[in-house]
Amino acid sequence: MAILNILEFPDPRLRTIAKPVAVVDERIRQLVDDMFETMYAAPGIGLAATQVNVHERVIVIDLSEEHNEPLVFINPELEILTEELDEMQEGCLSVPGFYETVTRPERVRVKALNRDGEAFEMICEGLLAVCIQHECDHLNGKLFVDYLSNLKRDRIRKKLEKLHRAQANA
Ligand SMILES: [Zn+2]
Repeated sequence: MAILNILEFPDPRLRTIAKPVAVVDERIRQLVDDMFETMYAAPGIGLAATQVNVHERVIVIDLSEEHNEPLVFINPELEILTEELDEMQEGCLSVPGFYETVTRPERVRVKALNRDGEAFEMICEGLLAVCIQHECDHLNGKLFVDYLSNLKRDRIRKKLEKLHRAQANA
C-alpha cells in the first residue's frame, strides 16, 4: 500500500470530472487500498479519487473511530430522498484547516459497486449522508467551498495559496 499525495484547493485538477470505472479489477482494488491508507493517515473520514489525482469514480469512507468500518463506492449514483435539509460543519482534506457550515439534503439513496464489483444500494442519513454527497461532489469537480459566499471562498483560497508558496520555498 502507499500513501498518495492529496491535491489541495485551488489546484485546478480538483475541477476534473471523473470518468466511470469500466472494470473493477486489481488496479482499482489497489487504488481503493491506497486511498484508505491515505485517508486514515491524514486523518479523514472520506476521500474521493479526484483528490489523489485519479479521475475515476471511486470513493472511500470510514466514519468509525477504530478505522474498522470501511465503505467503498465505485461509480456511485445519488438519489435525494427528502426535501428536508441538514446543516453541518464540513471540512475537507483538500481544504486543510477550514471548517464551514454547508446545507444538504438529509437523506439520500446511493447505488454503487463495491470493492468486488458487486452492485449494492444503501440509504444514508446524518453524517454518512453529508459525507457521501461531499465525496460525490469531488467526482464532479465540485468542492464544499463552492457552497460558501465568494468572499469566504476567496479568503480561504488566498490563505491556502500563501501556505502553498511558503511550503514551496521551505
Ligand atoms: Zn473533500
